[in-house]
Amino acid sequence: MNDLVSFFTDRTPHMVEELRQMVLLESPTNSKPHVDKLSEFVGATCQSLGAEVTVYPRAEVGDLRVATWNNDAPGKPILLVTHLDTVWPVGTISKMPLREEGGLLYGPGVLDMKSGVVIALEAIRGLRERGELPHRPIWIFFNSDEETASVYSRDLLCEKAAQAGLVLVMEPAAEGEALKTWRKGIGLFKIHTRGRASHAGQAPEAGINAVIEAAHQALYLHSLNDYQNGTSVSVTTVHGGIATNVIPPEALIEVDVRFLKAAEAARISAAIQSLTPVVPGASLTVEGCIDRGPMERNEQMIAAFQQTQRIAQSIGLELREDGSGGASDGNFTAAMGITTLDGLGAGGIGLHAAHEQVQIASLPRRAALLAKVLIDWQHPAG
Ligand SMILES: [Zn+2]
Repeated sequence: MNDLVSFFTDRTPHMVEELRQMVLLESPTNSKPHVDKLSEFVGATCQSLGAEVTVYPRAEVGDLRVATWNNDAPGKPILLVTHLDTVWPVGTISKMPLREEGGLLYGPGVLDMKSGVVIALEAIRGLRERGELPHRPIWIFFNSDEETASVYSRDLLCEKAAQAGLVLVMEPAAEGEALKTWRKGIGLFKIHTRGRASHAGQAPEAGINAVIEAAHQALYLHSLNDYQNGTSVSVTTVHGGIATNVIPPEALIEVDVRFLKAAEAARISAAIQSLTPVVPGASLTVEGCIDRGPMERNEQMIAAFQQTQRIAQSIGLELREDGSGGASDGNFTAAMGITTLDGLGAGGIGLHAAHEQVQIASLPRRAALLAKVLIDWQHPAG
């Protein structure tokens, strides 16, 4: 086994212990006191590892923290992006207890993404102990509201990313510990249709049926799907009508849009914004927008992956690439044109599910990979 991999393998028990501590600090996005507690914990840990830590208070969600090392060193920073919040309400730990079985660690948030935080901290800790922490700026961003679309963190994240030469998102790995080199972007839209109420028995012809209007729009929206090119336009909820004997005066449909390319986002967005009513006399309004651009598998992404693959090979690790239909903070940074790699976190399955689990053996491999990337990564010229 490669020296760096075996070094981190020896430290597996410590990584598991730190991960246990973090999982026990439950941290749902909507409980600021809980997320703050975990944020203080990681902030103190980073300080003990020689970092300067800046707190960015947030009233609505947990405070954000950014830890930095070697800020005086030349070159653009490598920015590690993590999040401390989970989708699991306080008390989940009693129903989904932390337990280790057959090389797997189970628990709420264990994979998404407390293991990613542990890997980031351990890579720094290990490099410091070996006297190999590279003389380059290294930053860790601790997000607190990623699971609710980073509403209160995205501005700061983008501000930090704009200064970085490389963004490494510590989200869970894809199957086989693959990196994620593409993620779909997301758009969310609501279409309100309006007609006119009328008695369904006495004067149905005097009504204008907003549900029928919504149905026309739903079928048209469905026709915009292009699964082969990774574009989906899914009508996901429908509400309408007020009583069984009334021609419905109003209806609402919600639409989830996903896409691999920014050009597709523009095409679908334009189509939705220009929806026109079909039923005579009906009207409609469109709300919503493209929320996140895609993390595109473009030339920049391919080059970044290939460099990382070579770095992995140098420590005896095979690295594959894959992608995800779900979005992460990597969508924001990639859409800014900043070199971004995602899925640097642990191997495991069941994120956002009751069987959420981490493969313990993946932790040292990922720490070794991250450590080696921190040492060897070369920002592309230009
Ligand atoms: Zn996550």
